[in-house]
Amino acid sequence: MLHVLDQLLEFVDRHPRLFVLTGAGCSTESGIPDYRDDAGEWKRRPPIMFQQFAGNEHARKRYWARSLVGFRRMRHARPNDAHHSLASLERRGRIVQLVTQNVDGLHQAAGSQNVIDLHGRIDTVRCLNCNSRSAREDLQQELERRNPAFASFDAVEAPDGDADLDDVAFETFDVPCCEACGGLLKPDVVFFGEGVPGERVRRAMAAIESCDAMLVVGSSLMVYSGYRFATAAADAGKPIAAINLGRTRADDLLALKVSDRCADALRMLSA
Ligand SMILES: [Zn+2]
Repeated sequence: MLHVLDQLLEFVDRHPRLFVLTGAGCSTESGIPDYRDDAGEWKRRPPIMFQQFAGNEHARKRYWARSLVGFRRMRHARPNDAHHSLASLERRGRIVQLVTQNVDGLHQAAGSQNVIDLHGRIDTVRCLNCNSRSAREDLQQELERRNPAFASFDAVEAPDGDADLDDVAFETFDVPCCEACGGLLKPDVVFFGEGVPGERVRRAMAAIESCDAMLVVGSSLMVYSGYRFATAAADAGKPIAAINLGRTRADDLLALKVSDRCADALRMLSA
C-alpha cells in the first residue's frame, strides 16, 4: 500500500494533462483565512449576498467599511508553496487549465499564466452601471482618505477581503461613486447570490474535455460554482484527486483523497 502522497505523485504522473481547481485552502498559508471548517460548515457569518449589497445602502456601507480593513491583509499576501508548485507544474506543461475560486490573484503572483478567476479579482473594482473597471488600490486610498476613523480599525479578516467589524456604526461611512457615471461601485468579485459569468464557465468546461484528470486543491466544493466541475469531470469519465483538509462535497466521486495541507502535499510535485 503506497503512502497517500506517493499515490498523489503517481496520480499526477499518470495523468499528464491536469485540470486544476483551487479554493480557499490553497491560500490559507498565505494568511488568508478560510470561510469553512473541516466539516464544510461556515466558520463565521456567511458573506454578504449580492442582493443585499445592491439594494441596501446600510449593508453596502457596512461591507465597504469591513472591506477597507480586510483588503489590507489581502494586498500584502504572498504566494505560498502550493501556488509555487502549481506554477511549476504549469511550466512543465502539465496543466491544461487552472481554475480558481479564490479572488486573491496569488496564482498569477506565483507565475501561473493560464488561470481562470472564476469568482473575479479583489484587486479590481467594477461599476454596476457602466461596467468600467478600476484598480481597488485607488479606491482603497480614497476610502481611507474619506474615512480616517475607520482606517485605523483592525479586525479578523475573511477570504474575500471582508472583515468583522460588528460593533462599529457604519452610517457615517462614506463610499465614492463611479467617477464616470455616478453608479455604484462593487469589487469585481462574484458575490453569493450572483452568477459566475457564463464565458468563464464555458472555458473551464471546455478544458475538462481535453484533460486527463482533475485535481482539486483546497476546496470543499460546497459551492455549486466549483462542484459542477467535479460532476462534469466525473460524467466525462475523468478521475478526480483532491487535496483538502476535511470533507468535500465530491468525496464519493474521488479516485484519491489527500487530507493534508495544500502546500505540504504539493511541495513534492515541484521537486
Ligand atoms: Zn460607471
